Parts: sequence; structure tokens; C-alpha cells
Amino acid sequence: MALIIGSHVSFSKNGQLLNSVKEALDYGSNTFMFYTGAPQNTNRCDIDDSNTILADNLMKENGIDKDNVIVHAPYIINLANDSKPESYDFAINFLKQELDRCEKLGIKNMVLHPGSHVGLGEKTGLNNIVNALKIILNKKRYTNILIETMAGKGSELGKNMDEIKYIIDNVNSDNLGVCLDTCHLSDSGVDMKDFDLYLDEFDKKIGLDKIKCIHINDSMNKIGTHKDRHANIGFGEIGFDTLISIIYNERLKNVPKILETPYITKDDNSKERLYAPYKEEIDMIRKKEFNSNMINDIRNNHNIN
Ligand code: FE
Ligand code: FE
Ligand code: ZN
Repeated sequence: MALIIGSHVSFSKNGQLLNSVKEALDYGSNTFMFYTGAPQNTNRCDIDDSNTILADNLMKENGIDKDNVIVHAPYIINLANDSKPESYDFAINFLKQELDRCEKLGIKNMVLHPGSHVGLGEKTGLNNIVNALKIILNKKRYTNILIETMAGKGSELGKNMDEIKYIIDNVNSDNLGVCLDTCHLSDSGVDMKDFDLYLDEFDKKIGLDKIKCIHINDSMNKIGTHKDRHANIGFGEIGFDTLISIIYNERLKNVPKILETPYITKDDNSKERLYAPYKEEIDMIRKKEFNSNMINDIRNNHNIN
């Protein structure tokens, strides 16, 4: 099996899955990840099956295995905090509907941020997550939920292996898996140069078969800083060679790799997202060759200045 690599792509009300596939193909990807609407809200459009059928055909023609395609749940959903019962119930119901939407689209895996306890304490927060996931996964599902390893920014949970294990063990559902994120792992204190040691421990405590997606991002910050600021591949503190060795690690060879690296801006201080660099990054990854001028080249070639 060849490298399974792609990036975050958009999903719009009109083109839906068909446009997402087209965008992924533009980047030279053989998988992709999308939010079914805006990541920061829960407004969602109806799924149009005619787009899904066209998307399925385009994927088949281009050798994209749909089982490798990922949905990301909106990041405002917080299962750890039940201090407002109506928001907690809303989050649970929303995620059930989001799984229904994934199932209608034929998507096998949905990534979810476990949540932030916002002052309730870690234990209470973790138990809120477990309780919610048990309700959401109370029946057998086609679509799995993958809890993402988090950087530990603010009161985020899922910031170490024991918290991930606690959730997996206590929910105890075949529909629950894990999504690793290289930036988050590094920010949470894992030395990514020793990634095989991390996988050894993961295999012992949780099981490598639970890992169904990996987000490939460099980090703007040093190990253990809990900042969660993604950097372009090779332009951060993890570095190109370490990321390449993770991407090509034999033990995760069947796991889809998804880039969530920042868009290129006019200059380093600008926040305006002008160009998605995924084609260029995937190219470097396939060649295993770092281009330290990638960002400048993009700014020049695409008149972003
Ligand atoms: Fe995420
Ligand atoms: Fe991520
Ligand atoms: Zn992140």
C-alpha cells in the first residue's frame, strides 16, 4: 500500500463532496479531510446524494479509497463541560446528527476534540466526555469517532496518553478510535524524534489498531509549550526529517495522513490566509526533499506580495 496522504479541504453547500474531491485531487492527494460546515459553528446544510454519487465516481477513477476520507467535527463542541446542561445536551445531539450526516456521505471516521473542562477539573471533565460518548455511541455505528490527541492548551483534555486511555477504556466501544496530531503531541511534551517509543507505549496501553488517522503538522513552538500553533512542514520545531520518518513509519503505513498546516500569508505578520500550500507540501513529502524556500517561492509564484 502506497502512502495515504491528503489535507484539509473545504466542503461547500453547493458542490459538497464532489468539490472536496476535486480540491484534494488538485493537491495531488489520495485522501482528504473536511468539516461538513464551518468548523466554528454548527449550522449544517442537507446532504445532496447526487453530489455524493458523482464524488464516489471521481474517487474511484482516481484511486481514492473512500474509507480513508475523514470528517472533522466542529471544534466548538465541548463534551467535557456540563455546567450548562442545555449546551451539553446540544453537543451530544449535534454529534449524533453529525454521525448520521457522515453515514449519509459514506464517511467512516470522524475526528473529535475530546473537550476542555474549563475549571471543572480533569476528573470531572474526563467523566463528562465518557458519559457523552457512551450516549452518542449507544448503538453500533458505521462511522467511528476518533478522539484527537491535544496540545493541552488551556484546560484541554486528551493531552496525554493516560487521558486518551481513560476515555477509550471507559467508553469501551468498537466505534471509538484515536487520531494522533504531530503538532499537538510535540506541544504536549512528546519528543517526536522518539516517535517509535511513543508508539510502543501506545501499543501497550491502548493498541495501535485504535489509531485511524494522523494529522501531520509542524509546530511553531518548542516541545511541551501547550500552544497549539501549527507550522508548515519543515518550517517548525519538529522539523522535516522527523516528520518524514513519522509519515513513512511502517507501523502506521495504512493510516491516512492529513495536513492541517497554515495557509500562506503575504508576510510573516499577516493573518490573511491567501494560499493553501498543500500541493507543495505533499510534493516535498513524496520526494522526501525539503525546500526551505517553499514559502517564498509560493509568495513569488502566486503574486502574494
Ligand atoms: Fe483537530
Ligand atoms: Fe489536528
Ligand atoms: Zn491544532
